[in-house]
Amino acid sequence: MLAGALVGVLFFPLTHFFGIFLAVFGSVFPDMDHPKSFLGRYVPFFSAFFSHRGIFHSFWFLLVIGLLFSSSLYALVFILGMFTHLLLDGMTYQGICIPFIGRIRGFLRTGSFWEELFFIFLLVLLLFASIILIPIIF
Ligand SMILES: [Zn+2]
Repeated sequence: MLAGALVGVLFFPLTHFFGIFLAVFGSVFPDMDHPKSFLGRYVPFFSAFFSHRGIFHSFWFLLVIGLLFSSSLYALVFILGMFTHLLLDGMTYQGICIPFIGRIRGFLRTGSFWEELFFIFLLVLLLFASIILIPIIF
């Protein structure tokens, strides 16, 4: 979610809430297939039909969305938000599957100290980007 917000802030002025919202929405969208995720709690039927880290965590899905809606900047930030989610999930030990390559995994364990530290790093990066961009916008 923070990485999505970072994408939104980098592409849109801070006052452009809809653009930032779409980037954040894209960054939480893939976990809609998990019943306890931020979005998954609101659409519990999704996790009944789709396995976690399945189709919604697929680069094929990202590619199809990109090809269908690539002409819009709004779609681009949504896709970039989704991409940041896949990138960060790829950094976890559970990893994600990439077509023709297979499963990639990282060193971060979900809920670990290092994941919390990485979260703080992203938060600082987001605040820094926001503070830097405010004088440019106004
Ligand atoms: Zn995920």
